[in-house]
Amino acid sequence: MKITKITNSLLQENCYILEKDKSAIIIDPGIETDKIIGELTSRGLKPEYVLLTHGHFDHIYSCKELKDMGAKIFITEVDAPKLLDNELCMGFFYNVNCQPVLPDGFLVEGENEFLGEKFEVVFTPGHTSGSCVIIHDNEIFTGDTYFEEGVYGRCDLLDGHKDLLEKSIEKLRPYLKNKKVYAGHE
Ligand SMILES: [Zn+2]
Repeated sequence: MKITKITNSLLQENCYILEKDKSAIIIDPGIETDKIIGELTSRGLKPEYVLLTHGHFDHIYSCKELKDMGAKIFITEVDAPKLLDNELCMGFFYNVNCQPVLPDGFLVEGENEFLGEKFEVVFTPGHTSGSCVIIHDNEIFTGDTYFEEGVYGRCDLLDGHKDLLEKSIEKLRPYLKNKKVYAGHE
């Protein structure tokens, strides 16, 4: 699938648009709503699914608008409450108001299928309790869990947990082999 990256200028959060024919899967639609929707509409792409690596506001901010356009929202069950609560998603602490949105389904550990494509999900608690990474072909979308070797996500936020993050990084290692990393921030 063709991948387009949209980076937010403020927090340097990366949103990824994956396209197949005229359909799009959006991973972590952050606070650049206009840029994301502009990219979709200018290329005639229909947003079908939103997949979230975790529930922080800078990764979920544009979910409401995309859902209103018909996209189905998927997140892990553990991080799902963050979609409905501006404190749990951390928006409150950054003076950002995230509109609550109900998920349409949960990402399961192992194989998930969207647009007829396989997406393998690995649960990686630590940055948040419900963080995950999403693998498609040779691409691995690591959210705020893993940036590059030796550079891992913060674990000092609300439900972050250092020991869990360290365990998750070890769990992740075999999945990182020969994969291109698409991290959640620049
Ligand atoms: Zn985060």
